[in-house]
Amino acid sequence: MNKYFSVSLLLAVLLVSGCNRKSENFTDYPIQPVPFTSVKMTDNFWAPRIKKNATVTIPIAFGYCESTGRVKNFEIAGGLDTGKFQTIYPFDDSDVYKIIEGASYSLQTYPDPKLEAYLDTLIWKIGKAQEPDGYLYTNRTIAEKHGGKGLHPWAGKKRWVQDSVLSHELYNLGHLYEAAVAYYQATGKRTLLNIALKSADLVNKDFGWDREKVYPGHQVIEMGLVKLYRVTGEKKYLDLAKFFLDIRGPNGHAYNQANIRPVDQTEAEGHAVRATYMYSGMADIAALEKDKAYLNAITKIWEDIVYRKIYITGGIGATSSNEGFAAPYYLPNMTAYCETCASIGDIFTNERLFLLHGNAKYIDILEKTLYNSMLSGVSLSADRFFYPNPLESNGQHKRQAWFGCACCPSNIARFVPAIPGYIYAVTSKALYVNLFISNNADVSVGNRKVSLTQKADFPWKGNVDITVNPEKPGRFDLMLRIPDWARNEAIPGNLYRFVSENNEKVTLKVDGEDIPVHLKDGYAVISRKWKTGDKISIDFPMPVRKVIADDRINADVGKMAFQRGPVIYCAEWPDNDKGNVRDFVVEKDAPVNTEFDSTLLGGTQIIKTSGYQTVRTLDGHVDSLGKEPLTLIPYALWNNRGPGQMMVWIPTTPSSAHPLPAPTIAYTSKIRASKVTRDLPAINDQDIPSNSNDHSVSYYHWWPDRDKWEWVEYDFNKPATISKSKIYWFDDGPDGGCRIPDKYEILYLYGNVWEPVDVKTPYSITKDGWDSLSFSPVKARAVKLKVKLNKDFASGIYEWIIDY
Ligand SMILES: [Zn+2]
Repeated sequence: MNKYFSVSLLLAVLLVSGCNRKSENFTDYPIQPVPFTSVKMTDNFWAPRIKKNATVTIPIAFGYCESTGRVKNFEIAGGLDTGKFQTIYPFDDSDVYKIIEGASYSLQTYPDPKLEAYLDTLIWKIGKAQEPDGYLYTNRTIAEKHGGKGLHPWAGKKRWVQDSVLSHELYNLGHLYEAAVAYYQATGKRTLLNIALKSADLVNKDFGWDREKVYPGHQVIEMGLVKLYRVTGEKKYLDLAKFFLDIRGPNGHAYNQANIRPVDQTEAEGHAVRATYMYSGMADIAALEKDKAYLNAITKIWEDIVYRKIYITGGIGATSSNEGFAAPYYLPNMTAYCETCASIGDIFTNERLFLLHGNAKYIDILEKTLYNSMLSGVSLSADRFFYPNPLESNGQHKRQAWFGCACCPSNIARFVPAIPGYIYAVTSKALYVNLFISNNADVSVGNRKVSLTQKADFPWKGNVDITVNPEKPGRFDLMLRIPDWARNEAIPGNLYRFVSENNEKVTLKVDGEDIPVHLKDGYAVISRKWKTGDKISIDFPMPVRKVIADDRINADVGKMAFQRGPVIYCAEWPDNDKGNVRDFVVEKDAPVNTEFDSTLLGGTQIIKTSGYQTVRTLDGHVDSLGKEPLTLIPYALWNNRGPGQMMVWIPTTPSSAHPLPAPTIAYTSKIRASKVTRDLPAINDQDIPSNSNDHSVSYYHWWPDRDKWEWVEYDFNKPATISKSKIYWFDDGPDGGCRIPDKYEILYLYGNVWEPVDVKTPYSITKDGWDSLSFSPVKARAVKLKVKLNKDFASGIYEWIIDY
């Protein structure tokens, strides 16, 4: 145990015992996690990633906070510098707090006096930015120095009044509280904690049933206040957390889960990060207040997510328009939102539900999310990030170094160092082993100290050895999680299922002796008197599994995914025929092999099978090409070799494939445009939507531009006589920012002058169908589509066909 942690633990104990809450009434989760500070990772998969988070992610994240002005906002608010608010959003303060939280966790694994000194200075600046009564929100404090000029439009004229909309005042504070507790536990220093408590006391003074009755527009303060309660023992913080849940609904919007009182909610709706942070806060209240109403609500919501709204990768939040949940079974792959933050939020929720119920199904979801949708959020180099994590790409997706709205990288920075804390949990008489990762750990089962050594090569190999060393021999239950995938379940519930049963059994040995696997709530319970050196050996068969989806998920009909252990696979461009993978059809019964490739992507298990490519002919048929090998890599590792085609759900029939385009005049042209983006190839890919708001098909758009002329152009590879145009417009109203345009024009180029075509049918603008136009045949070497965008909206194009 690290010296900092022992000091802080002692302080925490002193604080709790000095509080006015009677200790016999102090309830918490019936199962307690073993903190990451007690677990030393020794594996080859996570330990190097945690180290890179410390050496790469956290330094560059602080670097961006400095270079974008996030830190300067605190300096200006604190009178250490002058100027205007430096950044885009009023919630930019939260990134600084989240990275402090991550750095605090990281310090406990990688002590770093320079980093600690940097944090001390940063915390001093934050303290300076706090107003005398405890208010902390750099945008308003800076604006007040300029007579109110520069106040963000989201901020509200008065403190707090716009928080239920977009001010994010309480959101910033939730992250401040989490950071404060993390820094205090890492260093024993109260500096940031004092700032947080001063702030929380102001919030407690200003909000209440007889005071300000505004609910948080972006949840997270609920979890933050619970952490303040745990570290101080002061019940007012717990009461305030519950107030912020109870005050929600029923007259607000579904977008931030305020349309129904949280205790009455049964479905996952709205913005997925807000939702999962709220569900985590609800779980905390259910545990700490023994509140059945909150328990019932989150249990129903969990079922709604897992039975109807989760991707095979563990990603949640299907649509970009609300960054959140869509209708049941609406799970498009190419436009899947699956925000990295939502994966992390869902891990927080599932961990808490496990701590409440002791059921392995919550860890099944946690493990699926951890190895797939969450991990996809960060590159192998640890310096590039995904905000959405789609399950299919035409090459338009690329990890970024940073974002204007930087919630995802800062969430990665704080989540990754805490991963060792998800491996074990304890009660007074049981030890839970939830994840299989090599480590050395010190845990306490009741009053019994036990050291553990776990050796595993997850997620590549299924054998795990655990040596149990209790300080004194004694009886307790060792609860070994038998993952869903080792029990022939692709996911708890039936949203996804393995194509066939695997008959190989999980084998379990203690000191070399076979033990029958009796399951209780997904755990093999080994109840015995444990003594030093007792060795558990477990072998999880890890064959490649073929997965199919519930046929109510339209996007996955006629397709199959591949899974091995907890890892979901994908086909990516560098490993397959000339970069084309979306035209592949996999043979359902083709043999499947798997091997470890130590040279690929830092060393990874790959899957090899076979299929054939499909191609569209000029007369509209789909032809199959010859048999070809198909190589699959773990989904989380995609896009480490540059953008290109990728897909998780692989067609098993030509009708669900995206055939290689026919050599039409449009497809063989070079595309130019007024705005060149990675979406541009969508306009001639012959991938046709079923309506103007079909998110399973890629499109090109001019968002956020509006009220102006834009254009795209086909330069033919040789002059051709043309007489027809067909356009399919993109329109994501009423939620999105694109609508069909006001008007358009077709021009052609033969000599050096663009001439309008002589139309035979009048121009029209069609939604949810083809906009067809005939004109007098002209010989041309290029054709241009000029588009006048609507006064208030952008426009977009799915497909533009030019014909003879
Ligand atoms: Zn995010």
